Order: sequence, then structure tokens, then C-alpha cells
Amino acid sequence: MDTLRQHRCSVLPLDEALERLYSGQLPPRAVSLTFDDGGRDFRLRALPVLKEFGYPAVVYLTTYYSLHSQPVFNLLYPYLVWKCSRAATDPSTAIGETMGEPVQAGADYAALTARVLKWLNTQDPTADQKHRMARVLATSAGLDYEELLASGVMRLMTPDEVREVTEQGIRVELHTHRHRTPKTEDLFRREVRENRESIMRFAPHQSKPVHFCYPSGHHSDELYAWLEAEGVCSATTCKSGLANKSSYRLTLPRLIDTSHIDELDFEGWVTGASHLVPRRS
Ligand SMILES: [Zn+2]
Repeated sequence: MDTLRQHRCSVLPLDEALERLYSGQLPPRAVSLTFDDGGRDFRLRALPVLKEFGYPAVVYLTTYYSLHSQPVFNLLYPYLVWKCSRAATDPSTAIGETMGEPVQAGADYAALTARVLKWLNTQDPTADQKHRMARVLATSAGLDYEELLASGVMRLMTPDEVREVTEQGIRVELHTHRHRTPKTEDLFRREVRENRESIMRFAPHQSKPVHFCYPSGHHSDELYAWLEAEGVCSATTCKSGLANKSSYRLTLPRLIDTSHIDELDFEGWVTGASHLVPRRS
């Protein structure tokens, strides 16, 4: 936020930014801030900073886990597999046993994560099975799973907390109900509808959510017509880039600001220099 202010960026609400993007009336260094998932730390840590700077922001909220006060498993698993790789332990065998199918020992972080997420998407395991898998991964990483759960890891804001942040000027928009992207029209559109209905229940004073963010950035051509049919006006990806007038409104690029992006790199994006050179990651 300091960097945005130092570079005199115009931080705009998403609605206004999109309208001005496509009408060619954006001010120089226009920025729109978006936060994915709706984690508890958004309210606790990001919101006070946004208020201090007076910056508007959107939270793309996944609602099922907000209602059920459980960690978002398809965010928790990659985190735990990453923790295993940091602890130099290989959870392949334990994962294979939990999934009921063999997993090659020594598979890398990306391959293991992909296998676990595929299991989650295709097998639709019960809550018990999901916790069992998470426990296996946590143990392999040398973590205490119960302690991890109690810490609120990958836990989202409750419906009351969502209402509270919207009352403080934050917009809450669509990110599917269960943080997933089904491959059939019926299921995908149900994810969007359930997500929207829940958001409207959590934050009844807010106008209907019409902006979407693809869970984990996964998007494909068939989804666009389904999003249109649900009245979605814009959709953001995890593809790095600066949006311009010719960007398709259902595949808008973003800069995902993570701990991997250092100060110089971030400044490069803010000033518009970085999109001229290829991304390193
Ligand atoms: Zn997400």
C-alpha cells in the first residue's frame, strides 16, 4: 500500500475501474485491489491497512467454508504438501494409502499437489476422509493437526464477519460456493448461484455480486457462456498481466502479490514496466 501511494496510483473500486477501462477513461497508474477466498486474516490484518489508506477493495468469497467454519481443503492441501517439501519429508506413501491408490515415491511438490486435488475433485471424499488426508500431510510435515486446526489455518470469515467488512465499505464478490470448478454446466452454474445466494444472505444491503474469480485460477473456454448465463460481468484469473482495453472481460489478468514478489518487482508492476518483460514465474 505504501508503494501504491508513493507512486500516486489511483486505487479504484472494481466496478468503476472496469467501466473506465473499457471506456478508455482510466487515470494513470490505475489499480484495483482484490483479495481471494475471504480468509480471516483479511478482516484482521488487511482491512485495517486498507482503511488507513482509504483504499477500496473486493473480496472474492468462497461461501461453503465460511458457513461451515472449516478450512478450505483445496487450499489447505497444497499448503501442507509445501510444508512437507520444506521439511524435506516425502508424504507420497501416506498420501497413496489415504487415497487408496499408489503414489510414486519421491514425486515433486506440484505432482503430489495435483494428485491430491484430483482426488478431492473426482472422488468427493467425506469430511472425515478429508481430515484424515490433511492429518497425514500435517504429520509428515511435523505439524500437530489439531493445533493447526485450532490456529484457524485456511479458515474463512464467518457470515457475521463478512457482513461486518461489507458494512465497512468492502465489496464481496463471487468465487464459487465450494472453491471448485465443476466441468459440467449444471454443477458449475449451481456453484455460482449458491455462492451468490449465500453472499446476498450474508450481506443483504450489498447489491447483487456480478464479478467472479476462478478458484485457483482454473478456467477454460466452456465456462464463459455459463458465466454469461449467470449474469457475471467480469472474471479474474491468476495470469500475471496488466488489463487493457482489449482484455477479454471474463479472463482479466492480475498481479498476484505473494511473498515471492520482491519490492523491486512489485514496483515494476506498479509503474507498468514489468509487463513489458517476460515473467520469471
Ligand atoms: Zn481461491
